[in-house]
Amino acid sequence: MRHIVLLLFIATTTLFSQSQTDLSYYLPQDVSYNSNIPTPKSIIGHEVGEWHITHDKLVQYMYALANTSDRITIEDRGKTFEDRPLLLLTITSPENHQNLKAIQSAHVAATENNNANVENRPIVVYQGFSIHGNEPSGSNAALVAAYYLAAAQGPKIDDLLNNTVILFDPSFNPDGLQRFAYWANTNRSMNLNPDPNDREYSEVWPGGRTNHYWFDMNRDWLPVQLPESRARIETFHNWMPNILTDHHEMGTNSSFFFQPGIPSRTHPLTPKMNQELTKGIAEYHAKAFDKIGSLYYSEESFDDFYYGKGSTFPDINGSIGILFEQASSRGHIQESENGLLTFPFTIRNQFTAALSTLEAANNMREEILEYQHNFFKNARNEASKEGNKAIVFGDEKDAAKTYHLAEILKRHNIKFHDVKSDFSADGKSYKKGYSYVVPKNQKNTRLINAMFEKRTTFQDSLFYDVSAWTFPLAFNLDYTETTTANAGAEVNNLTHKNGGVNSKSDYTYLFEWHEYYAPKLLNEILKKGLRAKVSLKTFKANGKSYDYGTIMIPVKNQDLSSSEIYTFLDDAAKESHINIDAVSTGLNDGIDLGSRNFRNLELPKVALLVGDGMTSYDAGEIWHLLDTRYDIVATKLDTKSFGRADLSRYNTIIMVNSRSGLNDNNTKKLKSWIQDGGTLVAYRSALRWLNSKELMKIDFKKNNNVTAKNISYEQRGDFRGAQVIGGAIFETKLDRSHPINFGYKNDKLAMFRNTTLFINPDKNSYNNPIQYTKNPLLSGYISEENLDSLSLSVPLKIGGIGRGNIIAFTDNTNFRAFWYGTNKLLMNAIFFRDEF
Ligand SMILES: [Zn+2]
Repeated sequence: MRHIVLLLFIATTTLFSQSQTDLSYYLPQDVSYNSNIPTPKSIIGHEVGEWHITHDKLVQYMYALANTSDRITIEDRGKTFEDRPLLLLTITSPENHQNLKAIQSAHVAATENNNANVENRPIVVYQGFSIHGNEPSGSNAALVAAYYLAAAQGPKIDDLLNNTVILFDPSFNPDGLQRFAYWANTNRSMNLNPDPNDREYSEVWPGGRTNHYWFDMNRDWLPVQLPESRARIETFHNWMPNILTDHHEMGTNSSFFFQPGIPSRTHPLTPKMNQELTKGIAEYHAKAFDKIGSLYYSEESFDDFYYGKGSTFPDINGSIGILFEQASSRGHIQESENGLLTFPFTIRNQFTAALSTLEAANNMREEILEYQHNFFKNARNEASKEGNKAIVFGDEKDAAKTYHLAEILKRHNIKFHDVKSDFSADGKSYKKGYSYVVPKNQKNTRLINAMFEKRTTFQDSLFYDVSAWTFPLAFNLDYTETTTANAGAEVNNLTHKNGGVNSKSDYTYLFEWHEYYAPKLLNEILKKGLRAKVSLKTFKANGKSYDYGTIMIPVKNQDLSSSEIYTFLDDAAKESHINIDAVSTGLNDGIDLGSRNFRNLELPKVALLVGDGMTSYDAGEIWHLLDTRYDIVATKLDTKSFGRADLSRYNTIIMVNSRSGLNDNNTKKLKSWIQDGGTLVAYRSALRWLNSKELMKIDFKKNNNVTAKNISYEQRGDFRGAQVIGGAIFETKLDRSHPINFGYKNDKLAMFRNTTLFINPDKNSYNNPIQYTKNPLLSGYISEENLDSLSLSVPLKIGGIGRGNIIAFTDNTNFRAFWYGTNKLLMNAIFFRDEF
């Protein structure tokens, strides 16, 4: 009883203090504040921390500050998928603002020549908040931090703003922040309820962590496939900030984390000095947290390995990335092992870290400016030793995929050239317009290494995220070392190859399947109601060779006239950057155009299973792929509506990674839909479910049982972790004649894998169209035991029930929107499903 009374007492006093929380709870009280600067409450209508800030109100407040403060300018750098603005505030002294262009030029120049004046130059700090939308203390702290920087008075702030240019990004993930604020606010009781069981603390699927298409945007700093990252990376390269901070949240029972992370897990391409400076900066955080009495830790978790994360990307670009992780109240107040965790408390910690970063930047200014200068000076030395070395990459059959890798290089200010003239190396042809040459002797040479290298040995066997991301492998592009002797003009204006129909035909049209956007074109054609066929064999027409998977559109007996077909195809081909050939005779070398080896195609009608039980990242990747790249409208079919949905509307259902699959009634329903001719495409853990429900018999290899020898209790976590495949790249061998592999010109394909599901190959080799090679490791970490299991296993199993098919992949073919190389496997499953 006494216990309860005490709890009640704590709860009510906390509620009391909660309702009393005003700006003074957050702000340093040893300075005065300019009363002309609007407080957050005067604009957003509530105290900071009383409600979760919605993105629209955040925008309103940032504009209000920019309008009243001569320390702040604001720009709108673009839109999220949901049309929210991607704001950037530049905060510095009014004098620096007068002179900003010159400051910026001098700052960037110091990364490009050997003379650096560090005495009179401001340091540049990029502060970004809440890239995970449901880690909202960052963006809510941004309200306080921006107010402080605009309104604080006195010599200390003047000194700070004279010496610092702050690039202030109040919300890295506007769509996610909005989604989470809606959740936390709509479930808030007027009497705040800290019970973790309350609905307030468990969001509905998919939650607010991700952006519109459910991407974890804190993995996209290197691939830059999403609009939010694109705006941010442009700012980064335009300014070359010295420090970049990334404010996150972690589990409710934690405290506060700041980097450095686990030292042995730092990427070896990151200079040692980077981590030493991070440590130096950490002393400022520690001091500030000691002062307010908050607990914290560093070096025990998180790492700086994958350069696609916000706190690691800067480390390969001469900057210092810093990760902050605050224990999450998730809603407004929650019980935790450290007592009641209030939302305002989490905001205050983030604000404190934002300020201690700026204090460190100001005090360590010369040292950090010097570090960046030396980073690029050393990189230039390394680069000049490379002489005329270069990398060439491309695909003579797929200009679009090549374009998209080049596009990433462009976004990272990496220079590249056209090939001077077509040439061959290592048995691969590099054609002009289909390949590019990247000289190694250039400013961002270290970033080039980080993007192109293959790495198979590691200091540590544990990774917070993926252990490999070799870009040409992700894009399935041919690449090799070459010299600048093969380089033509530098590409300044990167454009897609033009598509179109080469002439009008009254007989048939043909196009090959290799180009990345071929499925988009085929989908347009089928949507138009035109008949189209796919070739199961190779052949020659008009002296030109056509590969497996060539698409044919006959002109006669269609609903459109021959000139309508021509106009339509020409437009659609231009849209998809694809060349279509007009053909006037059906008599070929090899199969003729009337052959039964040309098979009719049907418009895909796709349902993508989403909702409880399905992995939202994987589902979002497919939604994004179909919607934004191929213009294929897929129905997002929620598992909770599956029972009442009319499945006859679909010919393809996709089930992404899922341990639980569907309930028994829905499983029966799915099974009879497959029996009636439907195609199910399943991924990763869904395969275990398929096997357990006997929808498909899968011969899983038993995982090698690894027994701990000489492993202490303390080391057991690391021991187990070493058996995880966090994400690495492996080589497979393709049977190119199988429809699942149409459009692949090589018989080897790199696949990304982050599961330990291993399937034994079928005893009939034609049933193994994709198989891991004997020594499949191309790049990344895998334990010896797992590598042994993976060798000669298969990532794909095709089965059938009744008239329908099941196409099951152990690997994710659509990883994080940048694994362009294996997207076609899914497209082949969708378009050629009847030929399996
Ligand atoms: Zn996070």
